[in-house]
Parts: sequence; structure tokens; C-alpha cells
Amino acid sequence: MNSESTPRIVAKGNSALGPTLKTRLELQAMREAGRVVAFAVRKAFEALEQGITTRELDEIARGAIKSEGAEPGFLGLYGFPATACISVNEEIVHGIPGDRIVQSGDLVTLDCGVLVDGYNSDYAVTEVAGHSTIEKDCLIQTTSESLEMGIKAARQGNRIGDISNAIEQYVIPRSYELVREYVGHGIGKRLHEPPQVPNFGPTGQGLELQVGLVLAIEPMVNVGGWQTRILDDGWTVVTADGSLSCHFEHTVAITEDGPLVLTVE
Ligand code: MG
Ligand code: MG
Repeated sequence: MNSESTPRIVAKGNSALGPTLKTRLELQAMREAGRVVAFAVRKAFEALEQGITTRELDEIARGAIKSEGAEPGFLGLYGFPATACISVNEEIVHGIPGDRIVQSGDLVTLDCGVLVDGYNSDYAVTEVAGHSTIEKDCLIQTTSESLEMGIKAARQGNRIGDISNAIEQYVIPRSYELVREYVGHGIGKRLHEPPQVPNFGPTGQGLELQVGLVLAIEPMVNVGGWQTRILDDGWTVVTADGSLSCHFEHTVAITEDGPLVLTVE
């Protein structure tokens, strides 16, 4: 789940609270939440193949989280009914796991969160089930590398806009579009905290990055246009033109030594 900007899922009043800076102890809990979510998503993707349902992938992720003594961060949040958002092909974010059977060539995004000691992690990866194409591999590579560019800009003294611009400057010259209506966000005791972290915009704008700030940085990259729409299930966000979309996300702490990616095993 991404998007503090989705009007329907933003708790009113969140924006009244400023960004939170985490202590070393809080960062330890978030690091553990990040480790567990990376583990859970890896276990689910190990089972990704033609014929598996998105519900089965979700159950694997939930089992992996429980086996580590942690709790799913998304389940029940804003009423979301599953452990992971699973979004396939033209689905961008917030896909609901269910009876859908994965086909060879499907572009599958798992976006998942974990709670440890009341602290959240948020992490997303896109992979192709079975047979891929150059088009899909390039989309995945560009999205993943644009996230790395955003993370490199997540340094004390920089501003939110420097992250946004680093992602945009990497993606747009490669002839893709970036989703505009859903953005990254601060994260901590709440999954979605200020500030918003857009994947586009000028450098030098927005909140100055301080040590202890933790951000979920999450480019969503479309083969076609940037416009989106929401399916009748009220959750699943798809590209308006039906083009493929890809999503990667890490939870990243600003430290004195630079950006620290928390969502790794
Ligand atoms: Mg997410
Ligand atoms: Mg997010």
C-alpha cells in the first residue's frame, strides 16, 4: 500500500502531525520489520509460477511473517483484507489477492508491510512469472534502478524534491511515465506519515531531510501514460490506458552515514 495521496485511505488529521524523527531504538524495530518483510516477499516470490493464485502468494507471505514472530502491517489497515497488495500487469498498486491464477508472462508486484513492536515497514518488488520479454525486463530494471537513484538522494541536508527529481530524471529519458496520483511517504508508528515523497518534481523543494527521518520511497513506472483509475472493487489502481506498470519500494532511514535501507534481509 503506498499513497498518502489516495483521498479514500488517508486518515484525516494525519497531515496535521509533522514528520517524526526516530530514535536509535525505534530504528532497531523498523530494521527488524524491514528484515521480516523482505524475507516474506522473497518466500512468496519463490513460489511464483504459472498456476498459483494471488491468494496463495498472500498466504505464503502471511505465514512467513508469522513464522518470524511479527505481524502483517497491511491486514485490516483502512479495511484492506489481505497481507500483501498483489498487482498484476496493468494494475499499479493496491491489488487484492484472490482467485486470480497467475499466467506465464504476468508482471506481478508484491507490496507488503510488517509490524514489529508497533513500527512499520513497507516494501514492494515486481517480478515476471515464467517467460519474460525484453520489454518487461527493461521496465523492471528501470523502475528498480530509479529507486536506487532516489535512495542515493536521501541524504541529510537534501530535500524531498531531490529524491523526487532523481527518480524522474532517471525514468523520463527512458520513455516511461511516472504515476503522479500515488506517492511515497514518511513511515513509523503509522504506515503513512508526512511528508509525501512524489516521484517527480524539481530539486531543492520540500522538507529538508534530517537524521532519524524514515521514508518509503516507491516509484511506480508505466509503459504508457501516467493516468490511473480505480477498479470497481474500490482498491485496485490500474493504468488508465491498460499499459503495463511496475513498482519497487524500500523503507529508508536518513542517518549520519547516509541512506540506510531497512527493507533487506
Ligand atoms: Mg508499499
Ligand atoms: Mg508505501
